[in-house]
Amino acid sequence: MRGSPSVSGRGIQLDRVCAGYGGRRVFDRLSAEFPSGALTMLLGPNGSGKSTLLRLLGGALPFSGNAVLAGRSLRRLSSGQRGKLVGMVSQSPSLSFPFTVEEVVLLGRLPHRKFLSGWTTEDRGCAMEAVREMELGEMLSRRVSSLSGGEKQRVLIAQVIAQQPEVFLLDEPSSALDPRHTLRLFRFLRKCAREGATVVAAVHDINLAAEYADSVCFLKNGRIEAFGDVEEALNDSVLSSVYDVPFASFGADLREDGRWRRVWRAV
Ligand code: ADP
Repeated sequence: MRGSPSVSGRGIQLDRVCAGYGGRRVFDRLSAEFPSGALTMLLGPNGSGKSTLLRLLGGALPFSGNAVLAGRSLRRLSSGQRGKLVGMVSQSPSLSFPFTVEEVVLLGRLPHRKFLSGWTTEDRGCAMEAVREMELGEMLSRRVSSLSGGEKQRVLIAQVIAQQPEVFLLDEPSSALDPRHTLRLFRFLRKCAREGATVVAAVHDINLAAEYADSVCFLKNGRIEAFGDVEEALNDSVLSSVYDVPFASFGADLREDGRWRRVWRAV
């Protein structure tokens, strides 16, 4: 990856973290570790805390306890430092302002830009690489407000790719993507993880996790029900208890990385 940040395998550690909204706690002494060099998928029913956890890790939610991100205390990171380290794709953000696709992708470079200076060749190179990754080349001069939901989602993903963060936090990043761009996105995220990034993505599609995740983390009612290597933690009994519905798995296929996967279905 062009101009990749120096990634030193630091991951995310949470130690007895409490957080919520107003007086209502979503997490009560949550401890977990999201390793660098891995693509971890967050799964769990609606309201289990996936978005809240991503918001917290993105610095958008107050908490008590300790959270360490890429070797730094999350609480002590300034927004500028956080911008260089953490790339966040939120769920259904609005893109109604009159910017073009190119301008929105370039904004991903803002945390790297020096005060009062313009975009550098490196900034433009990173943005164009992100544009290629998300296949946005033909719509660079279009206003983002005129794009379809899936196209907007690709623009926001490209913005985070241009940012070149050490930690990627993604909340249902493929909810509006077609199969081609879903595949491109998760192949790209897996590549970033192989290069040392910490990648945490909330998804609903269990088979997407079976295919691309290194690890899975199942949340329910703000607690971690299972967390581990995809081959171990993704199984009938975990799925049935987390989602309160029986699951069947069938067939067996080879993942691109040569590992076996099963196909899951609620029954
Ligand atoms: P998930 O992403 O797993 O669907 P969330 O993290 O969005 O779950 O929600 C966890 C809990 O926090 C739910 O009970 C939800 O209703 C509540 N919640 C989420 N966002 C807010 C908010 N902005 N204000 C108050 N409660 C919220």
